[in-house]
Amino acid sequence: MTACCGGRVSFETGSLCPKCLRKVSATREMYGEDAYLVKRCPEHGEFRTIIWRGAPPFQGWERKPNVVRTSESQTKVERGCPFDCGICPTHRKNACTAVLEITARCNLHCPVCFAESGSGAVPEPSLAEIAQWYRRVLQAYGPDIIIQLSGGEPTVRDDLPAIIEMGRSLGFPFIQVNTNGLRIALEEGYAALLRQAGAASVFFQFDGMDDEIYRRLRGRAFYAEKRLAIDRCVEHGIGVVLVPTIVPGVNFHEIGAIIKLALELSPGVRGVHFQPVGYFGRCPDVPDNKSRLTLPDMMRAIEEQTGGMMHAGDFTPPGWENTLCSFHGTFLPKPGGGLQALTGHGGGCCGSAEGGDAHAVSFTARQWSAPPVAKVSDCCCCESSGSTPGIESLDGFLERVRTNMLSVSCMAFQDVWNLDLERTRDCCIHVVAPDGRMIPFCLYNLTSAEGERLYRGKTSANNDYIGQ
Ligand SMILES: [Zn+2]
Repeated sequence: MTACCGGRVSFETGSLCPKCLRKVSATREMYGEDAYLVKRCPEHGEFRTIIWRGAPPFQGWERKPNVVRTSESQTKVERGCPFDCGICPTHRKNACTAVLEITARCNLHCPVCFAESGSGAVPEPSLAEIAQWYRRVLQAYGPDIIIQLSGGEPTVRDDLPAIIEMGRSLGFPFIQVNTNGLRIALEEGYAALLRQAGAASVFFQFDGMDDEIYRRLRGRAFYAEKRLAIDRCVEHGIGVVLVPTIVPGVNFHEIGAIIKLALELSPGVRGVHFQPVGYFGRCPDVPDNKSRLTLPDMMRAIEEQTGGMMHAGDFTPPGWENTLCSFHGTFLPKPGGGLQALTGHGGGCCGSAEGGDAHAVSFTARQWSAPPVAKVSDCCCCESSGSTPGIESLDGFLERVRTNMLSVSCMAFQDVWNLDLERTRDCCIHVVAPDGRMIPFCLYNLTSAEGERLYRGKTSANNDYIGQ
């Protein structure tokens, strides 16, 4: 519902109190070019969090969610969103990505960690339990979904190849490993092992080009190992997606350099997926709005830091999750240098993840997998070809797109401060909880300011799947 109060446009949604996790009403309010999520707890007062800063304009970006949910519900509406996840009948989207957390262990001790890994106290799921999760995903969404094996750090499990093989044998075509890359770098032959098992892609933690960044964010300086791990994945035909967590004051200035490196290492590196930092875990002080990065901050930073090679206008809202959750762009290096945007103002005919769930999943899976083996002699845009110079056939162009396209995207996760239940109901990245419930990623990782969790580590009687 849109209303106008005191000259500012507002939109009503719901949220939680960051202190007591009580459900509260919330509004998106415009102040000039900026949008804030404003909410008030009867006990803990008002919270005002920036959700959009500057151009491109918020109003032009926002659009109504389109209902495409086809999957059955597993939980009933009892306490209302966001307390009935599993998913419940009020959820609007199928999952496009199912996250399976196969371990809580990690070989790093990052100050920034969604999963709060490393405690070692959480028992590891058995292969039989993981098989149950895979079947649960199949039952809910079918095989055409991105399976992301996550943790913790999944490579600390010696049976990771067996877990990948199991997923492939159950019919999932696209399995991605979410990794910091350390084991891939340190263990000769490990990348080949993952590829042989059927891993298509790595969702590769990559925060910048400077050891100091890794020391601050990950507790260990290992840039050289990062580069080695990328090379090994590329060598063995595993598509690499660089995933930087961007923290103001730490690596915001590295955004352009990361994209330039990705272009240099393209087509082996398939994309960059930025994740502005969120505030999870114990966080007694209200995070300063200045320390938050919104989607437009990231689009403008990409334009500035790439020297205009990519423009803010090249990016488009997502095709399937809520438009306030992400943006994406696809770019094709031109034979003579420079980039052609296939999305946004400059494109839109191809390279788009729009057009519904199935199309979006297959597009992403194809883009994040290793490139098809280049047939240089057949490529009409290549200098070695015998075709007419300067004229490219459609087939040649499409071949070049398939092989060389780089995707640049950004996902703004929600924490307890900026949680917007209208966004959450459109979430399509679902974590499979140990008891088989499918929980939207942001809610699964959400904690109160005191560190109390909403879902992680908790079971619920509101779950039809248990016992099946
Ligand atoms: Zn409260």
